[in-house]
Amino acid sequence: MMTEQLSVQMQGSMWEEAIGVVTMLEQRGYQAYMVGGCVRDLVMSRSINDIDIATSALPEQVAAMFERVIPTGMEHGTVTVLTAGHAYEVTTFRKESAYENFRRPEQVEFIDDLREDLLRRDFTVNAMALDAAGVLHDPFQGQTDVATRRIRCVGDPEARFQEDALRMLRGIRFASILEARIVKSTWRALRTHREKLQHIAMERVRDELWKMTAGPQPVRGWVLLVRSGLLTHTKDSLECLASARVEHWAPLWCALEKVDGADLRFAVLLLGHRVEGPEAKRIMNALRLSNAQQDRLLRILRVQELVAAHEQHKARVACDSRMSHAEIENDTERIDVDKQLMGSQKVAEFALKCMWAGTLFSCGEEALQQWLQCCAALTVSTRPAATLLTPAGSDELKCILLQQGQAWLDDIPVRSLRDLAISGTDILQMTSRPSGSWLKSLLEAAWMAIALKELPNDRIRLLKWIEHRLEEQ
Ligand code: ATP
Ligand code: MG
Repeated sequence: MMTEQLSVQMQGSMWEEAIGVVTMLEQRGYQAYMVGGCVRDLVMSRSINDIDIATSALPEQVAAMFERVIPTGMEHGTVTVLTAGHAYEVTTFRKESAYENFRRPEQVEFIDDLREDLLRRDFTVNAMALDAAGVLHDPFQGQTDVATRRIRCVGDPEARFQEDALRMLRGIRFASILEARIVKSTWRALRTHREKLQHIAMERVRDELWKMTAGPQPVRGWVLLVRSGLLTHTKDSLECLASARVEHWAPLWCALEKVDGADLRFAVLLLGHRVEGPEAKRIMNALRLSNAQQDRLLRILRVQELVAAHEQHKARVACDSRMSHAEIENDTERIDVDKQLMGSQKVAEFALKCMWAGTLFSCGEEALQQWLQCCAALTVSTRPAATLLTPAGSDELKCILLQQGQAWLDDIPVRSLRDLAISGTDILQMTSRPSGSWLKSLLEAAWMAIALKELPNDRIRLLKWIEHRLEEQ
């Protein structure tokens, strides 16, 4: 076995307490090592999230040895050991056989040989172990593959992907986040067995896609996904995200890394593919995204839809009628609409501001800001910089919003109905009319007038404005 001292790098309480657990197991006569991702990340000088420990001790023996344990998955050999500041999954060396449905086996066989435990692991970079002294055990040359940035299956890739089809997606994820390339034999096997991804639960697919998309090189991962054709074989269809047509993807490559976080990058993918509400909903359901995640993403797409609708002049017509209505109402204390607004340029700008305020009302501030971020990423990446300020056609509106949208947003004094200086109860006290949809409409009209600076958000003035409206109705 190739060995090397890595102890100098094993610093910090997470490593120290893990070494304590490993040492305790060794003192009781068992073999114990830190394994998998933490070793890979240590060798690569990457920060680590957690440390997994593998041992020859049986799960019951591990559970009996430590004071604070959680029986995480005794039948699979895993006990979580709690130390002063950390939690470690301690798993008995095991052999996996009889894989069912192209996924990890239900049954495992406990063994007492480190090499055989490393043999069941997916990629050579993930099949290294470290002992308490910092000596590296690397029977499959994982360290060489780390140095040359290569993702290679442990053993025969054909067999490994047939055993567990999730490994194909993991391989692409590791190639992406570790900035590595997939070796030929592993890539060939991946392409051969790609249709077996249909056997993998969509929750697992989502987890891999999310980790990859949140990583430092999401484009690398998505390029590999497109080239592999893997996503056309998911259990539930991912629709356009599975498209292999390069022209669908080319504009997205630069955009993806211009925003942070998996959710926002996913929004860029959906916007870049021009996915609309119902299709987006189908993709999100397929990926089993939480309701909160879906809601956030759908709000961003809704901003896009409202901007597009405005582009088709629908909102402009609505706004013109609003303005003439505002002109008639000269006995209220609204802030006068400047006569110069009637110039066509100004009308267009006012119409856009109306739309922007309405979009704020229905989608919320966060969605507007996130849409601006996604839109900026996509705009810069799809147009040459020189034409950015003088765009033609449908991009014109987006460019104005990219330049003015945030300032307009900052200028709007209210965010939701909660910010109004009056409430529905105040209005109900002014009339004998029972509550109903009219009340909501009236509050919304007040909100809009304040947002457009036609009316100050002042309790006395608002009540007067409402009184006048109630008299009219
Ligand atoms: P991450 O940084 O994402 O946690 P990781 O390598 O630690 O990466 P885990 O999913 O936490 O990944 O798995 C821990 C280890 O278990 C892996 O390093 C690998 O050795 C092994 N492993 C995990 N999933 C599989 C699998 N599907 N097939 C074979 N081995 C696996
Ligand atoms: Mg891990």
